[in-house]
Amino acid sequence: MREGDTLKHVGKRKQLADLLMRKGIKNEAVLNAVRNIPRHLFIDSSFDEHAYQDKAFPIGAEQTISQPYTVAFQSELLEVKRGDKILEIGTGSGYQSAVLCELGAKVYSIERQRELFTKTKRLLSKLRYRTQYLLFGDGYKGLPEFAPYKGIIVTAGAPYVPKPLLSQLEIGGRLVIPVGDDPQIMTLFIRKSATHFEKHELGEFRFVPMLEDKN
Ligand code: SAH
Repeated sequence: MREGDTLKHVGKRKQLADLLMRKGIKNEAVLNAVRNIPRHLFIDSSFDEHAYQDKAFPIGAEQTISQPYTVAFQSELLEVKRGDKILEIGTGSGYQSAVLCELGAKVYSIERQRELFTKTKRLLSKLRYRTQYLLFGDGYKGLPEFAPYKGIIVTAGAPYVPKPLLSQLEIGGRLVIPVGDDPQIMTLFIRKSATHFEKHELGEFRFVPMLEDKN
C-alpha cells in the first residue's frame, strides 16, 4: 500500500466503486482503477473525508478534481486498451491521469495552470504513476509532437471542439469531450476515416471551463 493509504480508505473506495456500478459503470478495469487509486491523496489532506464521496472537489487555482462518476464515465467511453496512447487535456489534480495509467495507457497530459502543473507532476511521480509526458501548455493546440492518439479526453468544459484535437486522433480513435456552456453535453467522436467523424451525444455534465489564451 502507498504511504498515506490505509485499509479504511481501501474500504471506502470499494463502496465508491459499488456506487458507480449502481449508477451504470460496467467496465471492470475502470472500476478496479477506482478501487486501487488513493483519491484522498489527490486532494488537500484536511478534506480527507470528502475523497470517496461521488462529488467534485476544489483543488486550488479555482479548479476541481472531477466527480468520480464523471471520471469513470469518460474513461469507459475511451475504451482504453493496454499500450494505447491517450492524450488528456486538463491534468488538474492528476486523478484522471492515474486512472488512465491503471488502465495501461501511455498517458500524455496538458495543464495550463503553472501551480497545478508543478504540484501534480511531483505527486504523480511520488505515487509512482508513470505518465509518458506532462506538458505545461494550452490544450486547445493538443500535442502534435506525439500524435496520433488512440484516445483524447478533455476534462474541462469546451465552448467548441478544437480542430487540432480531431486531427490528432488516429483512424478508429476516440475523442471524449464535454461541449457547451453550462451544462456541457458529453460528446464522443470516433474517427472513421481521414475526413469522417461519427458523433454521439451522451448527456449533460458540469465542468470548469476550458480556457483559451487570448494571445
Ligand atoms: N482531470 C482533472 C480535472 C481537473 S479540472 C482531474 O482529474 O483532477 C480541469 C483542468 O483543466 C483544470 O486544472 C484547468 O486548469 C485545466 N484547463 C483549463 N483550460 C485548459 C487548457 N486550455 N489547456 C489545458 N488545461 C486546461
